[in-house]
Amino acid sequence: MTIPQRRLGLVFTLVGPPGVGKNALMNAVLKRIPDLKQFPTATTRGMRSNEQHGREHLFVTRPEFQALIDSDALIEWQVVHDELYGMPRATVEAAIAGEHDLIADIEVLGATYLRSLYPDNTVLIFIQPPSVNELKKRMAKRGETPEEIAKRLRRVDMEMQYAPLCDYLITNTKLREASKILYGIVLAERSRRALLNLRVERDLPRHKFTYSATVIPVHGQEVLGRDGSPPFPTIQLTHGEAPHDAALRAIRQTLDIIPSPDLLAQGQLSQPFILPLALTSTEQAHHEQFIFVYLYYLPERIEPPEGWRWLPYQQAELSPAVRDIIHSRHHELLTEHPV
Ligand code: 5GP
Repeated sequence: MTIPQRRLGLVFTLVGPPGVGKNALMNAVLKRIPDLKQFPTATTRGMRSNEQHGREHLFVTRPEFQALIDSDALIEWQVVHDELYGMPRATVEAAIAGEHDLIADIEVLGATYLRSLYPDNTVLIFIQPPSVNELKKRMAKRGETPEEIAKRLRRVDMEMQYAPLCDYLITNTKLREASKILYGIVLAERSRRALLNLRVERDLPRHKFTYSATVIPVHGQEVLGRDGSPPFPTIQLTHGEAPHDAALRAIRQTLDIIPSPDLLAQGQLSQPFILPLALTSTEQAHHEQFIFVYLYYLPERIEPPEGWRWLPYQQAELSPAVRDIIHSRHHELLTEHPV
């Protein structure tokens, strides 16, 4: 359960490719705005010499991280560069309830999930580099090895595709200019909060977005879809529901089977937060709908329910990003679930 919605504390999340300068920008505004605090997320990675426990992160061991997961103390958690990172629920809820504003560097899927849970309190700010080449130069300057750079660059494309889904976009060409913009965003959002609180008092609508999960049932080279809209099982998230739970609900309702979370295509780790494969958005009745996209590998080619049919994934109505994912997983999929 999440605490009742009210636009009190704000969580500013800086998203964008690694090495783009999110930390430098964050430090610049933290200096200028004393009542803005950094949100220390939990991580298993080692502490760097310029860091402090409880400031940049809560540095914990793997067993300690596991204990946080087990006690449901994390809103979500993910693997980033082979280490675990997660958002402590208590920190976010205390900030929202107490009207403390936080700022953090959070990977984009986690940040979007946070916004789906706390739509009144989360602000997504995408930081983009002037160019990808520039980004490589900056990484090399930070003394990272070619392997580290290669690993981080793989995340660049993935993160860049989410830029249009954020609330703000800043190009970090010069730190001074970019941090002025970020400073302006924090002040503007604070004044917007004052306005939205008036809307809350008068019970007026204030949400810009809705969130859904779409799940694409896959077997071999085929996907189960229909000609109508939406073309795949889709369901709106109820408040506080994790997108992968909504995806499983969509499968259950459409195909009338008891779905197994294990068959939901995922990142390296499964529970409790199964990584969506993609995020897309559509406009619906004057608001924007965010859709978390999952694949569900059916072990059997079940009889399609009325109105649904199996068709080769190449012929299905899929966004290019999702088609690429199915394509790149195709080999893996054939070996795991031979037809
Ligand atoms: P770093 O090791 O540089 O502090 O963080 C690496 C990356 O992990 C950050 O750029 C950020 O995108 C991501 N990250 C940090 N904390 C969290 C978290 O709590 N949840 C998620 N999903 N990502 C995080």
